[in-house]
Amino acid sequence: MLTTTIHNMQITSKLPEVGTTIFTIMSKLAVDYKAINLGQGFPDFNADQRLLNLVTQAMSDGFNQYPYMPGVASLRQVISDKVSAIYGHRYDPDTEVTVTSGATEAIMSTVLAVVNTGDQVIVLEPCYDSYLPAIKLAGGQAVCIPMNPPTSDCQTFHVDWDRVRSSVTPRTKLIIVNFPHNPTGAILTAEDLDALEAITQNTNIMLLSDEVYEHIVFDGKPHLSLATRPELAARTFVISSFGKTTHTTGWKIGYCCAPVALTTELRKVHQFVVFTVPSPFQVALAAYTQDASTYLNLPTFYQDKRDRLATGLNQTRFKPLPNPSTFFMLADYRAISDMPEADFSIWMTKEHGVTVIPVSAFYGNPDSVDSNHGIVRFCFAKQNRTLDAAIERLMKV
Ligand code: PMP
Ligand code: GLN
Repeated sequence: MLTTTIHNMQITSKLPEVGTTIFTIMSKLAVDYKAINLGQGFPDFNADQRLLNLVTQAMSDGFNQYPYMPGVASLRQVISDKVSAIYGHRYDPDTEVTVTSGATEAIMSTVLAVVNTGDQVIVLEPCYDSYLPAIKLAGGQAVCIPMNPPTSDCQTFHVDWDRVRSSVTPRTKLIIVNFPHNPTGAILTAEDLDALEAITQNTNIMLLSDEVYEHIVFDGKPHLSLATRPELAARTFVISSFGKTTHTTGWKIGYCCAPVALTTELRKVHQFVVFTVPSPFQVALAAYTQDASTYLNLPTFYQDKRDRLATGLNQTRFKPLPNPSTFFMLADYRAISDMPEADFSIWMTKEHGVTVIPVSAFYGNPDSVDSNHGIVRFCFAKQNRTLDAAIERLMKV
């Protein structure tokens, strides 16, 4: 237990083991050492000028006051239409779609809404850094199931659904999944969805599906949203974010689609966490997203960058792993060093001027041997010249 005392005031930390997030630490280190930042996941190029103009227009048109608590109507309609067109499930924009302050708030509000003291939440590791603190703040208990790490037979991280099945108990309230997966790029197959259906059938288990990279899947493959399966959709909070899709991570506009009973509880929390999120961005994104090419062209756009980074890494001593989705690429550095991933990442910034993220940071226990596979994450949401400059430095490692 961590207790801080100032004068007579005492704070007993609710998150004693939590420090500053790895993304913030590594981005600061990148600035301090003037390194090329391929760590934190954000584009180093601007969003489409058309979208920026739409925001300016929305402000000039007077969309500057509190929007409706669950989100601007036109945006909820566009989200509902998009999900229906791509995944074949129609969410009622009035009662089943909520616009949130990024996916982060949707995740926190969902977990706070459904997890009660003592409930168990199954999480697949490596996992995005906000999941475990959210569960803890809700009074729940995280049950972490490691994904199987890459081997020579299967070069991608993959889920052992038998292990997930055997971890289910009467106390399991929620399973959190994240595909396309950060940091590994793993995507769902029909067999994965079958397994999830079988595990949750005849239970009261709910699902939180973090699909923020839904539009960044490569090699012509589709993203299999949990919304594509009616039985899963009936128990799932499907969460996404415009930050990844429109190159606007700093706007923090996300959303959650969920059946009305689930959405009702989500909104009770949402309205007291943020109440609502900025109107000009919502109005602009509603107009912009009506043009489906704004998200359907993303795979081509990012696949070029993925291939550029992979080709570059193949000229270094890093070994890039296959990358079916997201704007992150994993690379094995064991030919270079046997340092733990966190030490290696700091060394890379300080000595070689390229910032990466240790995959171990996505585990509840980052220092454990089981969390360290000699793999780091590179973000390729960067201009080609940034990627080329990084490769030049990496060739010297
Ligand atoms: N989930 C995952 C898997 C992410 O990678 C991120 C951010 N990169 C988020 C959630 C948070 O999204 P947002 O910035 O919209 O809050
Ligand atoms: N999701 C981003 C990443 O994985 C970071 C978001 C953040 O810094 N909170 O790099």
